Amino acid sequence: VELAYTFAKGTIVAITGTNGKSTTTAVVYHTLKHAGYKVFVGGNYGIPFSSFAEETDQDCVVVLELSSFQIEDLVSFHCNTCAVLNITPDHLERHRTFSAYAQAKLKLLDFSDTKVLNYDDAVLRKVKCSNALFFSLHTQAHAYTKDGTIYCADVKVNVDELPLKGLHNTANYMASILILKSLGVEPEDIVRGLKTFKGLPHRTEPAGTVNGIPFVNDSKSTNPGSLESSLLSFNRVVLIAGGKDKGLDFSYLKKTVRERVKAIVAIGETAQTLYSTFKEVVPVCVEEDIYSAVKRAYALAEKGDTVLFSPGCSSFDRFKNFEHRGEVFKEAVKRLGEEVEKG
Ligand code: ADP
Repeated sequence: VELAYTFAKGTIVAITGTNGKSTTTAVVYHTLKHAGYKVFVGGNYGIPFSSFAEETDQDCVVVLELSSFQIEDLVSFHCNTCAVLNITPDHLERHRTFSAYAQAKLKLLDFSDTKVLNYDDAVLRKVKCSNALFFSLHTQAHAYTKDGTIYCADVKVNVDELPLKGLHNTANYMASILILKSLGVEPEDIVRGLKTFKGLPHRTEPAGTVNGIPFVNDSKSTNPGSLESSLLSFNRVVLIAGGKDKGLDFSYLKKTVRERVKAIVAIGETAQTLYSTFKEVVPVCVEEDIYSAVKRAYALAEKGDTVLFSPGCSSFDRFKNFEHRGEVFKEAVKRLGEEVEKG
């Protein structure tokens, strides 16, 4: 990123956070593109910054998703607007402590003129810096949500009219609006962009229905924070979770699990951790692979339940990446559907 920056021209936006980076990056890119801007997107999303930096010019906007790993090495990088969406525990196998991980993310603030920050996040609310723009689901901030409507200066949009559901996506929308406003995008263009962005695969993506039971693919959920936000988007789920063990603690999710989860089907390296963390809260069973987990979850689900595949762990224990894992899940749902149909 640092090297690519030395070749780049134009306006730069950088987006980080534990969760919601790709969705927010894609919403901002989509809206700018449809408003007629010359725009590039990349970084930790899609293609590397270095693969297009030389093609940029003074009139374009570059939208970058940046991971904590990429921010760690920045020296002379500078962007017009940055956003830090949230900071919850992740990647502690690399950063060792939550505080070191948070510092790596917060370092981005030193390299930006305008800073878009989540007021609902315990770490970000306390940040002291100039030119901060806050968004909140609960309190009046620069962008905020009240009675199902998002307000941000001259932008007003009803959440029900937006395609991406769940409070976490409302937060992503508010961050996107603040970023787009900081670039001077017209309110009508912002609202049109938000309404026409269809979402990315593997993020609470519908994966079919078997005998009236909906299956949802949230393979991109790779930490406890993303698992929590997915659970809060559904009333009652049979949860399939587990994956590579990053040493993260899931116990703070016990209350949400008690309220939203009927049963857990645990898979992967963390299956035993999930079993011991939640066995006193809900029934937990362990399955060897995704297909057996899908079959077991279907057997446990009743009408009105959703089978949610939100691993809360990264995929590298058994898969190439989260896309591969999500495709295997969707394939397993398809196979189950065919078997159920045949009887
Ligand atoms: P990232 O690029 O940071 O991994 P994504 O936009 O790809 O983020 O979303 C990954 C997962 O994180 C989603 O499947 C969803 O479960 C969860 N998520 C998305 N946005 C948020 C948010 N603002 N807060 C918490 N969880 C979120």
